[in-house]
Amino acid sequence: MEIYDPVKPDKMALLFAYTCPHCQNEVVLVSPTQAQNVTCGLCHTSFPICPIDDHVVQYVHTILGDGMAAVDPNY
Ligand SMILES: [Zn+2]
Repeated sequence: MEIYDPVKPDKMALLFAYTCPHCQNEVVLVSPTQAQNVTCGLCHTSFPICPIDDHVVQYVHTILGDGMAAVDPNY
């Protein structure tokens, strides 16, 4: 059996939570940079969301090296 060293992440995603205006359920999306309608998984209400600025998403990915730079320095 092979022994592996701890693996570092080489990808990451930013999650954004939107509260359903009908039932207050949380709808979680991965960096929604386009204006769109989303459907609540609980009450099935469709509602529009404010999109996330793509520049902000790119900035966070860059400063964190797509996850590599966020690794606990003890590893
Ligand atoms: Zn809902």
